[in-house]
Amino acid sequence: MIQLSRYVKVYPSEQSSEQQLLFSTKKASKALVSPETLQSIKQDILSPEDETLLSRLGMIVEDREEEKREVLSLFDRMNGTNPELNITVVLNLDCNFACIYCYEGSMKGSLYMTEETADRLIEFIKGHFQDHKKSLVVDFYGGEPLLSLGLIKSISRRLKSYAKSRGASYRFTLVTNGSLFKRKVARELKRLGLTNVQITLDGPAENHNKYRPFKSGAESFDILIKNIQETWDLVKIGIGGNFDEKSYKEFFQLLDDLEWAGLTPDKISSIKFAPIVNRPEGDISPVDYMAGCMSSSEPWLIEAEAFLRGEILRRGFNTPKAGPVYCAVENTSCYVVNYDGVIYKCPGFIGKEGFEVGDLRTGIRDYRVSYKLGAWKNGHCADCEYLPMCFGGCRYMTYIKDGNINALDCKKDYFDASLETLVKQDIKYGSHPM
Ligand code: SF4
Ligand code: SF4
Repeated sequence: MIQLSRYVKVYPSEQSSEQQLLFSTKKASKALVSPETLQSIKQDILSPEDETLLSRLGMIVEDREEEKREVLSLFDRMNGTNPELNITVVLNLDCNFACIYCYEGSMKGSLYMTEETADRLIEFIKGHFQDHKKSLVVDFYGGEPLLSLGLIKSISRRLKSYAKSRGASYRFTLVTNGSLFKRKVARELKRLGLTNVQITLDGPAENHNKYRPFKSGAESFDILIKNIQETWDLVKIGIGGNFDEKSYKEFFQLLDDLEWAGLTPDKISSIKFAPIVNRPEGDISPVDYMAGCMSSSEPWLIEAEAFLRGEILRRGFNTPKAGPVYCAVENTSCYVVNYDGVIYKCPGFIGKEGFEVGDLRTGIRDYRVSYKLGAWKNGHCADCEYLPMCFGGCRYMTYIKDGNINALDCKKDYFDASLETLVKQDIKYGSHPM
C-alpha cells in the first residue's frame, strides 16, 4: 500500500496557494502537489504516472517500516561499499596568523609532522586502501598546512603513484588561511593532485583584518584577495567565514567586495559562513576544522544563517543545499591523523583524551563505544522526520556543551525553525521542485 514517506515535510507553497511543497529529508528532493494529490496518497488511489514520479523522488513508499529499517542501516550499507578512503592530515599546529578566536593559544607552536611520521602515514593509508577502493582523498589541515609545503609535496607524490599502481585516483584538498597560496604554489600542487582549497574570509576587510591578522599584527585581507585572483582558474576555491552575533550583519559586504575584485560566482566554487563556536577550556583543536557539518539552534543563529545564505544565493554564488549531511565519525573509511601520528575520527576531537582511536604505530582500535556509534538508533530518532539529515547531530557540538558526548545533539528545534526557509531559498535561487 502506498503511503507518504515518514521523511517528508509538507510546507505551504510560495508559488501557489493551491499547492503544497513536499521536501524529502532523505533525498533532498522537492515536489509541488495539490491537496487532491495528497488526498490520493492517503487513499492509495494515485495515478500510475504520479506514483512513479513521487516514488522516484522519495515522497511515497510502499512500506514505511521497511523504509525506516533502510534509513537505520544506511551507514552499514554505505560503509560496506564505499569506494573512497578519506584521510584528514593535520600537518602541524603552527600558524602565521593570530586569529582572535583561535583557541590553540599557547598550545600553538613548532608542532610539525616529521618525515618519519609521514612514512608511517603512507603505510597506514596503503594498509587501509582495500581492494574495492577506487579513490583516495587526503584533506591537509593545520595549523596552517602550507607551512608544511615540502611534506604536502612528498606525501602527495608518493600517494599519487601508489593510487596509480592500484588503478585508483588520488586527489587532495587544503584548508588554509590562504596567505601562502600563491600561483606558483597552486600550479605545483595542482600537478600533484590538488583540486579544492578552502580559504577563510571573516567578512569585509575591516572585520577580517580585526579577526584574522598576521602574527605580526599586519592586515591579511588584501593579500588573500590577490591570492584568490591569482589561483581561481587552477583549482576550485571555496570561501568560508566565521561570524559572531555582532559581525554577521556586515558579512554581506564581503560578497560585494568579492564581486568588485572580479571574483564573481563563476570563479568561486562555494561560499558558506558558519558561527564561531566556543571551544572548551584547554582545547587544542585546529582552528579551521569546521567542514560545514555543524549547526546550532540559538535564535540569533537561525536568523543569521537564513540572512547570510539568502545574500549568498541572491548574488548567484553557490552554497550547500539543504539536505543530508553525514558525520565522518560513522564513516569507517574516514580518519583524522594528527601531526604526531595519533588518530581520531573528527578534527574537533584532536587532543581530547578518550577520543583517540589509535596511532600510526599500532593501528586502529575499537571506537564504537568511545564515539557512541549508532546512538541515534533509538525509537525516538527512528520516528523522527529529520533523521536522514541529522543522525543524532554533531558529537562535537554536544562535547562543547556537556564536556562529553553522552547526549545527542538534537536538531529538531533547529530544523523546525529553519528548514522551510532554507528549502524555499534553494527553490527561489535555482533548485526547482518537480
Ligand atoms: S562530530 Fe560533528 S564536526 Fe565531527 S565529523 Fe561529526 S558532524 Fe562533523
Ligand atoms: S536527534 Fe533529534 S532531530 Fe535528530 S533524529 Fe533524533 S529526534 Fe530527530
